[in-house]
Amino acid sequence: MHFTVLGAGTVGVCCALYLQRDGHHVTLVDRGEPASGCSYGNGGIIQIGACVPIATQGVLRQVPKMLLDPEGPLIIRWQYLPRLAPYLMRFIAAARPSRVEAIAKTLASVLGQAIPAYRTLIAAAGAQDLIRETGEMYIYHSDAAFAAARPAHDLRRRNGVRILDVPVEELRQLEPALAPTIKHAVWFPDCIRTTNPALLTRALAEKFVRDGGQIRQETVTDLAVAPDGTLSLATDRGTRAIDRLVVATGAYSKRWTEKLGSFVPLDTERGYHLMLPNPGVELNRPVIVGDHRVGISSMVGGLRIAGTAELARLDAPPNYRRAHRLLAIVKRALPDLNIADPQPWMGHRPSTPDSLPVICQAPRAPKAFLAFGHGHLGLTMGAVTGRLIADLAAGRDAPIDLKPLHVDRFRANRF
Ligand SMILES: Cc1cc2nc3c(=O)[nH]c(=O)nc-3n(C[C@H](O)[C@H](O)[C@H](O)COP(=O)(O)OP(=O)(O)OC[C@H]3O[C@@H](n4cnc5c(N)ncnc54)[C@H](O)[C@@H]3O)c2cc1C
Repeated sequence: MHFTVLGAGTVGVCCALYLQRDGHHVTLVDRGEPASGCSYGNGGIIQIGACVPIATQGVLRQVPKMLLDPEGPLIIRWQYLPRLAPYLMRFIAAARPSRVEAIAKTLASVLGQAIPAYRTLIAAAGAQDLIRETGEMYIYHSDAAFAAARPAHDLRRRNGVRILDVPVEELRQLEPALAPTIKHAVWFPDCIRTTNPALLTRALAEKFVRDGGQIRQETVTDLAVAPDGTLSLATDRGTRAIDRLVVATGAYSKRWTEKLGSFVPLDTERGYHLMLPNPGVELNRPVIVGDHRVGISSMVGGLRIAGTAELARLDAPPNYRRAHRLLAIVKRALPDLNIADPQPWMGHRPSTPDSLPVICQAPRAPKAFLAFGHGHLGLTMGAVTGRLIADLAAGRDAPIDLKPLHVDRFRANRF
């Protein structure tokens, strides 16, 4: 078959590679070069322990405080609130304890396949030099923040995630650059990271082209399904019939899903990063400042500080003050950090209210497949998504239960 994959972010590139491995002809379409969207600037962590959804009772309790705190990890642009209401209602419903348990179980099943799915692609692309097997460290300045995180760590442990308590004396040896005032640390030894997510995705895209794949730089403007199921794609270069389709346009996937006859309450949690080109300190593994949900990682090109979730329109201008506010948080954790010349960036996380991606065949357009909505975990779940889409296209049994990832879970206002 000939697949057209819309979106050359990490998810689209991985879908293209896995479909190509099955012998399909594949064309990737993106308005920019590969990894020019959200996949460009993420924290680079393949977070296989991150099975706790964003919506939990604990998070709901903290929302009022977070919203009033300009340095807080969550902010809503108030003028956007009416449009956001349907998303927020589902977000609140997803925070029910029974839903949180079920979502965590599903996420854990997907995350369990994430690293093996990457190893296949990374080995084939010869991109091992962009990967480090260091695990990920969570640190806490206060007893209160550590105590507040305990239910989430317990949920992760219940789902098979290995989390090791790290005594502070040991932390000092593992990460000498961290402040001696840090009170608690836990280590996720099985996570891996990339030294640059954009370079990784581009290395995978280059492998796709070396193996005969085509990348077309075009902006998709429309999509139509004829009554017999035939698909046609309109771009700034013209309209053409296409054989099979994968929608992997990240936060921009809602419109194309609607064209394929399905509803999805997809929205965007905008996130920011700051790159410090001459940080003067180095971390041996990515560190999450648990008190503020901010990630820090040493990368090719400097030290990256990534975090915050800002609910605002896709086309709202970036508010780089959000990014610059991360500096004070990180300086407290890394006192010797040189904060000169910070380079800010903003990206659109493609977020569903239940923190689960949409990975399925389009129910009302069976020649199309949906692969988006990976929220905070699109790098982590990129390769496994590609594998699952290839399984669906081939009619093979998937290694996990895909029902909870189906787009129709949002149908008819089902919560
Ligand atoms: C600050 C921050 C830190 C993060 N840290 C991590 C992390 O450490 N680990 C992790 O797993 N995840 C992390 N994430 C999340 C991760 O970056 C995203 O989930 C992931 O990049 C989504 O990938 P994607 O391929 O679905 O979307 P994107 O990378 O956004 O790709 C979508 C592509 O579609 C293209 N496109 C859209 N519309 C059109 C159109 N009309 N025509 C043509 N092309 C179009 C875009 O140009 C884009 O290239 C982080 C996100 C942020 C913001």
